[in-house]
Amino acid sequence: MQADTAGAMPQTAEGNPGGVEVESFDVVIVGAGISGIGAAYHMQSSFPGKTFVVLENLESFGGTWLVHRYPGVRSDSDLYTFGYRFKPWVGPPIATAAEIRSYLGEVIEENRLDAHIRYQHRVLGASWSSSDKAWTLRVQRGDTGGTFEVKAGFLWMCQGYYRHAEGYTPDWPGMGDFEGTIVHPQTWPEGFDLTGKQVVVIGSGATAATLVPAIADECAHVTILQRSPTYFYSGPNRNETADMLRELDIPEEWVHEIARRKILHDQHAITQLSFENPEFLAAELINSVRAQLPEGFDVERHFTPRYRPWRQRLAYLPDGDLFKAVSAGKASVVTDEIETFTPKGIRLASGDELFADVIVTATGFNLSVLGDIDFIVDGQPVDFARTVTYRGMMFTGVPNMVWVFGYFRASWTLRADLVADFVCRLISHMDDTGVRSVVPRVRSEGADKGMQILEWIDPENFNPGYMMRSVHLMPRRGDKPEWQHSQDYWSEKDLLAKVDLDDGCLIYE
Ligand SMILES: Cc1cc2nc3c(=O)[nH]c(=O)nc-3n(C[C@H](O)[C@H](O)[C@H](O)COP(=O)(O)OP(=O)(O)OC[C@H]3O[C@@H](n4cnc5c(N)ncnc54)[C@H](O)[C@@H]3O)c2cc1C
Repeated sequence: MQADTAGAMPQTAEGNPGGVEVESFDVVIVGAGISGIGAAYHMQSSFPGKTFVVLENLESFGGTWLVHRYPGVRSDSDLYTFGYRFKPWVGPPIATAAEIRSYLGEVIEENRLDAHIRYQHRVLGASWSSSDKAWTLRVQRGDTGGTFEVKAGFLWMCQGYYRHAEGYTPDWPGMGDFEGTIVHPQTWPEGFDLTGKQVVVIGSGATAATLVPAIADECAHVTILQRSPTYFYSGPNRNETADMLRELDIPEEWVHEIARRKILHDQHAITQLSFENPEFLAAELINSVRAQLPEGFDVERHFTPRYRPWRQRLAYLPDGDLFKAVSAGKASVVTDEIETFTPKGIRLASGDELFADVIVTATGFNLSVLGDIDFIVDGQPVDFARTVTYRGMMFTGVPNMVWVFGYFRASWTLRADLVADFVCRLISHMDDTGVRSVVPRVRSEGADKGMQILEWIDPENFNPGYMMRSVHLMPRRGDKPEWQHSQDYWSEKDLLAKVDLDDGCLIYE
């Protein structure tokens, strides 16, 4: 898929001077990752008569799956649920970035969405005018650097949750003294040759677990250096239900739906267990890891997390590939604290030193709230940390705008599809009632009186590092379901469809 397939937007130096007309759309979708492409699909199928455009900063589609190019990059959830509900997944459940992009490319092609996507179009600012009942977006083209304006009746924000240009690397002492190469997986150099190198990968999450088996054969040795362990589970990269249904020649649409339901059923049971009997679940997960490692391996130290299962994402290892690399002696695990980088590697709190030619910092993301776009409502800059979220989709005081933020414990796309249903229902409701703006407002009387305003997420429930580092930048939540981002797909799938759009939380004009 090539850049700018929709043809050039009018492009001028500033604010479309010189008489160039400002293009106007009913809906502008920001981002052409899995959420934005899904939003475009729903927009097109629900509102064939409305105008919409997808503005994407990068040169192509895929978002996360375009940006991340480190060896072995793959999903950590199954594609039956990480794929859309409307497009069957026919490959192995855990998919590579290339397979996911190919799936997204098919969705674009089959639905002719390319005519609506404009690549290398970065949204810098969004300004709402209550008198116009419209957003004016300030957009910059990546190829020329020129900026211009676009108008939108409604903004569907699918910008993801982290800064795409660079990952998060802590500032460790002595980093400047290290004589080797330091690389973050998010900005992996093309053709980076690790042959014969001593590599240390700092981090214990899904990225480290994916990268290490992928490079273990190439480098001299790879060591995972982690501060604390993560829960892993593993199994073959196939789905028995789907395989069985395919043997019976069941159509792929059915296979997709049935495999999805089975996976979601099983995941629900595991999620429930993580709350009701976390010790049992933890023991099951750890015993399964132990069974895949050599006799005498220190599982307590390296693979026994200090938190309840599911408080951070459970990482799936297809075919237990990480454990195979460890068992073969190609990879090892060190659980310790970094004291300082040295010219030759890393000195640890225990006093040991790890020697390295290459250090990979698989240390996560920088959270980005709403694509680093400057939002203004009627001349006033919006500080999202002072807004309260309406069902994890909209924000108090910010009209005609929805963002897509998926689930942590279930596949992101499940929520992208549910949010899309909600947006389409909301837009239809506005059309039917002849209003042009909608904004959430906490009800000062009645249901919301005296409501407690809390941080976006309860760290007791879920506490990944990127969120904990930046939660102060995120919108707030209330203590009622209307004002929270639910993490429970299983209740939200029924609830969102029934939400009363006239319950007083949404103010229309
Ligand atoms: C390596 C990795 C593996 C993951 N695996 C899984 C998984 O298996 N299952 C799961 O559920 N989740 C997974 N996630 C989380 C994942 O990011 C989401 O599930 C999903 O891909 C997010 O899709 P998205 O479209 O919402 O955002 P993104 O993929 O982040 O895409 C957002 C797009 O918006 C564009 N954009 C942002 N700001 C602007 C702007 N101002 N103007 C124009 N365009 C803009 C970006 O360029 C980008 O293309 C993974 C994340 C990573 C990093």
